[in-house]
Amino acid sequence: MRTDDTMGVPQPTAETRWRCTLCGNLTRFDVTRATKAVDYVHLDLAGEPTVEEHEVVSETIESVRCRWCNAADQIELVGRPGASA
Ligand SMILES: [Zn+2]
Repeated sequence: MRTDDTMGVPQPTAETRWRCTLCGNLTRFDVTRATKAVDYVHLDLAGEPTVEEHEVVSETIESVRCRWCNAADQIELVGRPGASA
């Protein structure tokens, strides 16, 4: 299995995990997300805001960079240990 830039970053599932195709890193990545979210902001009488609810409306992973070799979006999905892929 390999990834394609036009397809974005593949999503890991219960059975799969990311793997850097260049160096084989399985555990350390910098993930850039674009998140659209709604905060319920509750202000007290002094005007001090507190976010009481945070609802993520949509979230897209824009890029994943390997912490070991610094390769961007060179990610594939491989089976997790013990998962029947
Ligand atoms: Zn790597």
